[in-house]
Amino acid sequence: MKIAILPGDGIGTEIVAQAVRAMQCLDLRFETETAAVGGAAYEAHGHPLPEATLKLAKEADAVLFGAVGDWKYDKLERALRPEQAILGLRKNLGLFANFRPAICYEQLTHASSLKPELVAGLDILIIRELTGDIYFGQPRGRREAPDGPFKGAQEAFDTMRYTRPEIERIAHVAFQAARKRSKRVTSVDKANVLETFQFWRDVVTEVHAQYPDIELDHMYVDNAAMQLVKAPKRFDVVVTGNMFGDILSDEAAMLTGSIGMLPSASLNEAGRGLYEPSHGSAPDIAGKDLANPLATMLSVAMMLRFSLNHPEAADRIESAVQHVLASGLRTADIWSEGTTKVGTRAMGDAVVAALSGKTTKTITKS
Ligand code: NAD
Repeated sequence: MKIAILPGDGIGTEIVAQAVRAMQCLDLRFETETAAVGGAAYEAHGHPLPEATLKLAKEADAVLFGAVGDWKYDKLERALRPEQAILGLRKNLGLFANFRPAICYEQLTHASSLKPELVAGLDILIIRELTGDIYFGQPRGRREAPDGPFKGAQEAFDTMRYTRPEIERIAHVAFQAARKRSKRVTSVDKANVLETFQFWRDVVTEVHAQYPDIELDHMYVDNAAMQLVKAPKRFDVVVTGNMFGDILSDEAAMLTGSIGMLPSASLNEAGRGLYEPSHGSAPDIAGKDLANPLATMLSVAMMLRFSLNHPEAADRIESAVQHVLASGLRTADIWSEGTTKVGTRAMGDAVVAALSGKTTKTITKS
């Protein structure tokens, strides 16, 4: 198994280092190769996604990605900004299906911004379409407004679009994922206002006819945003477009206590994938040993399950993370009264110890 390791920028290098340590405890044979991506690649090679990095990602069985970006690159022309590397990888690898589970671990119910009873036992799966929608639609740009009350004024525009095959394949992914869970799918759209999402709703409904065992409901995105904080446990599998999924999955992340806990998988039609934490490069805490590495470690578990066919190893990582949380260790983002604050490296040490069968001391203070 060949795994491309792309740490990226900011906390990306710190959290990926811990995830790789965890992988090395698994008694599995991996070939890993590391390459620069994002701002680090721009500095070294003049481009956020150099040819060699893209080639490595295409040849690998799976990609472990940290995060990219830094405010210092905000003035670069768009094509050279670090974030373009993610869009380029998604497009070139055909990673159209993004899985973002939002699971609230029992030990973290008090770290959530919602009342514990609302999030205890929460386990939802957001499936976000990743290669279409307004993020990729053409044309886009700036021009003089051709009409309207501000005709002639400078304007910017993007294009929201989805083709039938793009909606069909993500709908199949969602219904098939629901079969392995509680057999319920909520499709989130804005069919009341947007033509693109009326089409989305029509096509999802058509595909649903092939899955009579699955319950489907449709919800407008504004209501979904509200329901996620009002009664999140009403959801099981949520399927939605690229932009709505981007926003809702970050909202769901906070239900779990911290974005530092949320892994993700982005898969193509062949089941190959890129695995990354849902958060960004967090320049505000980079290099300070403050980042939570657990989302990246849990992304490795998703990689083992979805792309490398080692579900038992995935279970081991997830159990090790639970064990460490139960022992009372917390990085700053999930710390609460009565638990013990540790840094990135110490959290990695604890997961590695749990994977190696060494018991971590129970140090919960409460
Ligand atoms: P961010 O996710 O990097 O950070 C948001 C907040 O969450 C910050 O306060 C940060 O300190 C905190 N945070 C994030 N991950 C954490 C972790 N593992 N442990 C503890 N705290 C954590 O989002 P942002 O600040 O909006 O963006 C920063 C940079 O990241 C930007 O350049 C943005 O474009 C980029 N970005 C990259 C990706 C990606 O690589 N996939 C995704 C989102 C944002």
